[in-house]
Amino acid sequence: MLPVEPDTNRHCFAPCQPGTFCKCLGQWIQATLEEAPIMSDEDRLEMEAQKPHPWQLNPWHPMERPIDKKHIGKLMEELGECSSAAARCLIQGIDEAEPVTGKINREWLEDEIADVLANAELNMDHFGLDRERIETRKVRKMEHLRAWHGMLE
Ligand SMILES: [Mg+2]
Repeated sequence: MLPVEPDTNRHCFAPCQPGTFCKCLGQWIQATLEEAPIMSDEDRLEMEAQKPHPWQLNPWHPMERPIDKKHIGKLMEELGECSSAAARCLIQGIDEAEPVTGKINREWLEDEIADVLANAELNMDHFGLDRERIETRKVRKMEHLRAWHGMLE
């Protein structure tokens, strides 16, 4: 049976060996008396010096709050839908229609761009993103891409 991470009830990926530092548990695993090597104070100090800092054990901290997940998840979903609409325009043409529903690709792309913009606004508000920084980058990106696209005309 694998050890269980504290506070998560998740099992570690591998068993931790006695006398080693278990990254999953974030602690040294005690060796039994039979297994324990005889260590000098110098060895013990060296072993402590090699012990990873807590942030090295788990540098990633995924979102946990449901409201954060809802905001970022919905943005991701709409980005995917916008990508699908853009791909359809590329493949079929922007003024062609979806064969079953008859919806014009241009309208679908407009709808999905609107959904992305709406969710981008909500995410900027929710996470307190720097709107000035975003606007500056957006303007710079548009200038860069206009110059790039202009080379094809
Ligand atoms: Mg949508």
